[in-house]
Amino acid sequence: MITKKLGEVAVMCGGSLVHDHDYDIRMNGVFTDSRKLVSGRLFVPLVGEKFDGHAYAAAALEGGACGVLWQRDRGVPPEGPVIVVEDTLIALQALAKAYLAEVGCRVVGITGSNGKTTTKDMVYALLGTTFKVHKTGGNFNNHIGLPLTILDMPADTEIAVLEMGMSGRHEIETLSAIAGPEVAVITNIGEAHLLQLGSRHEIARAKLEIISGMQPGGLLIYHGDEPLIPLVLGEPDTVKPEGLKTFTFGMDQNVNDDYPTGMMFHSKGIIFTSHLHPDKGLELPLLGQHNVINCLAALGVASYFGISEDKITEGLSGLQLTGMRIEQITAPSGLTLLNDAYNASPLSMKAAIDVLDSLKGHRHKIAVLGDMLELGPKEREFHAEVGEYAADGKVDMLYTYGALSEEAAKAARIKRPDLPVYHFSDKKELASHLAGQVNPKDIVLIKASRGMKMEEIVDALVKED
Ligand code: ATP
Ligand code: MG
Repeated sequence: MITKKLGEVAVMCGGSLVHDHDYDIRMNGVFTDSRKLVSGRLFVPLVGEKFDGHAYAAAALEGGACGVLWQRDRGVPPEGPVIVVEDTLIALQALAKAYLAEVGCRVVGITGSNGKTTTKDMVYALLGTTFKVHKTGGNFNNHIGLPLTILDMPADTEIAVLEMGMSGRHEIETLSAIAGPEVAVITNIGEAHLLQLGSRHEIARAKLEIISGMQPGGLLIYHGDEPLIPLVLGEPDTVKPEGLKTFTFGMDQNVNDDYPTGMMFHSKGIIFTSHLHPDKGLELPLLGQHNVINCLAALGVASYFGISEDKITEGLSGLQLTGMRIEQITAPSGLTLLNDAYNASPLSMKAAIDVLDSLKGHRHKIAVLGDMLELGPKEREFHAEVGEYAADGKVDMLYTYGALSEEAAKAARIKRPDLPVYHFSDKKELASHLAGQVNPKDIVLIKASRGMKMEEIVDALVKED
């Protein structure tokens, strides 16, 4: 974690200390949420649409903060150690950038529509076998989370693995400028944030912004099954570093540098070989073919940093994932649940349905799908597409919940008229109907956007049991 004198912090973030005599006060890290005050840290009040952290600055100082940043246009600062800046968010980002440069570690940046957190956790597990690695905690992947992740980094970190998320253009550009990655990964281009961006092409441009702040001669690792990425790479207004190198991964053997050559699915994970890792099967303690693809991206990073095959095996076996991704739960009755209520987009819905399809030995495969939010004008078509995909021989029973998901139910009924499809606009009714249908030998996938709170159905099923 960053530890400095307040006077040094002022220089690093482009601000000025109100009282010169505060120069030598020690700061141990920063915080932006006044409820999470830890004595000795610097409070950074941020200004949002609905809140202004400056209101809590005086209380933070009283509570033991070593000092506060203060945005000049916010009036008179409180008494105590204060660093005045033009903009507290920009100052926070500048401080992170300066600290990163001082630590001098190498940086891996990871973006993409789906699989960023999973891939980040894999890269961390692989590089962690050989280097001192720091990674984004949880999903702290935006313009505030990324600088906080950097400032939390131990001073002896050798490699920082940073997740970069976005909901519009020029956001990843900002993150890339702060982090200056040597290696950048684009896991894929999906439909998430189509509402804000308008087209998949524009989403690809937004993700490719990750290369704008890269080191000269850096390596871009990307999903080669996606033709939009090389297309955008070749566009004249795409900003790229000198001597950019590329490495591609995916299913397609004709275009990718690495691709799976064999996959064996079992109830706890997957054993696979790839073109560049042909000798012994790599064991991934995760479900879903999409995770093999995420793993190929992570292996690309590992190879770049010279991680040996033995260490790769060791790293994968110790893989720790950030919670609430596709999670297999066995209810007391023996009923198997796949909880993927964390988020959803058409790509990840199909990936989760594939996981359900790949798990053998169950009586019925039941999918419980809720709305995918923020997909823009084509949202109904996307839901219909997912309904059709599920009905295409992959599930034995389909439940849908939410106004948009009714389109999935309709499309599924048309695709496969004999498939039992139940649509509900009430979660409790859905859960009690489902509880009446399931048998302990069944497997149930539950997935929707986070806002649909589908974990309530998971909880109900575990309790009903
Ligand atoms: P967020 O935007 O919320 O940060 P993320 O990109 O970090 O998401 P993960 O948290 O790793 O993604 O995974 C989110 C969901 O996407 C999970 O439901 C998972 O099943 C699915 N998923 C992960 N990787 C892929 C992939 N390569 N292709 C399709 N779906 C994927
Ligand atoms: Mg994430």
